[in-house]
Amino acid sequence: MARITLRQLLDHAAERGYGVPAFNINNMEQGLAIMEAAASVNAPVIIQASRGARSYAGDIMLAKMIDALEEMHPQIPLCLHQDHGNDEATCATAIKYGFTSVMMDGSLKADAKTPADYGYNVDITRRVVEMAHWIGASVEGELGVLGSLELGCGEQEDGHGVEGEVSHDQLLTDPEQAVDFVRATRVDALAIAMGTSHGAYKFTRKPDGEILAMHVVEEIHRRLPDIHLVMHGSSSVPQVMQDLFNSFGGEMPQTWGVPIEEIVRGIRHGVRKVNIDTDCRLAMAAMFRKVATENRSEFDPRKFLKPAMDALRDLCRERFEQFGAAGNAPKIKVVPLAEMARRYRSGALDPRIGEMTEAA
Ligand SMILES: [Zn+2]
Repeated sequence: MARITLRQLLDHAAERGYGVPAFNINNMEQGLAIMEAAASVNAPVIIQASRGARSYAGDIMLAKMIDALEEMHPQIPLCLHQDHGNDEATCATAIKYGFTSVMMDGSLKADAKTPADYGYNVDITRRVVEMAHWIGASVEGELGVLGSLELGCGEQEDGHGVEGEVSHDQLLTDPEQAVDFVRATRVDALAIAMGTSHGAYKFTRKPDGEILAMHVVEEIHRRLPDIHLVMHGSSSVPQVMQDLFNSFGGEMPQTWGVPIEEIVRGIRHGVRKVNIDTDCRLAMAAMFRKVATENRSEFDPRKFLKPAMDALRDLCRERFEQFGAAGNAPKIKVVPLAEMARRYRSGALDPRIGEMTEAA
């Protein structure tokens, strides 16, 4: 069994200079495809579930499914992560169901749509960190509101996302505040806002520095060289996938995602976890459309799901390779939760704040 914490996995990724894609799941087919991809290239895995996914599949189903995937692939370190936890209860119940990592997104209030102030974010994140670290689980915090710098707004996904207009300031994480936030909360990883947003419609043109602020990643990494950064909304929405979807009756307006080369640049500057959901959905949905269009008499769901799983597997394998995670699974010796908890208590895992910060 190889259930790994986010902290241990990202520490390894930082040592070796790679990034780990974090794929969202809510059903068995996605789980099978992601694990098949990971096993085929020996990559460690982050599987994450949103609150929406937990209510769709049910906590018990999700938990047993992950147990099964782990049993099928005991050689693959698997981190199960709560995506966008909105309050303490969401994070606590996730850990109860076997999640080894939680995101406490205090950039928004518990309704998951109203921007919260900095003090609220620090307080709730710190409380979740204390609770999780007692058990040995990891915590990802978020500073800054995720959304489009082009449009000045966020996008709802699975019932999560800022509502209404958001100022340019809120949409970019302040590097100085990031230092203070990490020091105050002791998070293991930090999600930052730099122009990526959830959903398929991230950019209306190929993104440049105006709308995808990679310099913010670099500035934060310079101040916090040992903190693992997380890029949300980092699907690439490849043109071939849009074209495939549309060629079988889909009506997806032209859109641009986050180019792979920008993600790879982020990985060179401290990005260790890269959240990908839209690409996975699109890969599967395009195949549903293809089967439905090409074989109109087909009614066996497996005939739709199998090619969709194959498409998802190929996409995931490509990301494992592009981010450098491939080949790293056998190099990781998984540390149990209890040992992680002991290390937190001893102070061995306290966040190290960079020297440049102290001088600044
Ligand atoms: Zn997100």
